[in-house]
Amino acid sequence: MTSPIPDPALVAERVAALHERIRSLSPDHPVRIMAVTKGFGPDAVSAARAAGLHLVGENYAQEIVAKAAELPADPGLEWHFLGRLQRNKVRSLVGIIRVWQSVDRSELIDEIAKRSPGARVFIQANLSGEAQKGGAPLADVPRLVDEARARGLAVEGLMGVGPEGPAELSRPGFRALVALADQLALRERSIGMTSDLDVAVQEGSTMIRVGSALFGPRPAR
Ligand SMILES: *Cc1c(COP(=O)(O)O)cnc(C)c1O
Repeated sequence: MTSPIPDPALVAERVAALHERIRSLSPDHPVRIMAVTKGFGPDAVSAARAAGLHLVGENYAQEIVAKAAELPADPGLEWHFLGRLQRNKVRSLVGIIRVWQSVDRSELIDEIAKRSPGARVFIQANLSGEAQKGGAPLADVPRLVDEARARGLAVEGLMGVGPEGPAELSRPGFRALVALADQLALRERSIGMTSDLDVAVQEGSTMIRVGSALFGPRPAR
């Protein structure tokens, strides 16, 4: 089931307000906004595009395949995969997904390298200690970066999800992720969601991933 989205004009206003907020929190460093459209229909993707966004994030393989089939071909649109990824789903997503952000283990590196040689990836670090959120322990991230590169993948950055609860709880993990990205000379730091995007921008996010702040609450899965 997908939820209706608010009027595209309202989505565009929310995007404009978010750009403004980012500029005030991070005047010197640009931060891109990714529209996370999981749980919403293709109209959410269209509204994000109309609001000037070109990064779209999704979590579920079947939902992505169905949604992409309903949308016109759009070379300016970049789909990123954010969810827990099963190896056997990679094949169905090649050709749709341009950047794999939730790469957190060797078998995924192998599978993506095999199905989509040279693909762009982020390594996901686990910042919350909650296993169901995915991500590799920070200590394992450098090895995964090396492995992905050795397999010919283009490692562009790191991704992380903060813990549940007040936004401040996300700060130490975000800071550790940014420090590690600096150390590994990785350009992209994909941190910050609706609930903790201010903290993420303050800590050096280059890409916030925003769903409910743009489209409203998602239906429970
Ligand atoms: C769902 C999701 C988001 C967006 O969450 P909101 O709270 O709606 O902004 C961002 N990143 C990941 C990895 C997600 O799974």
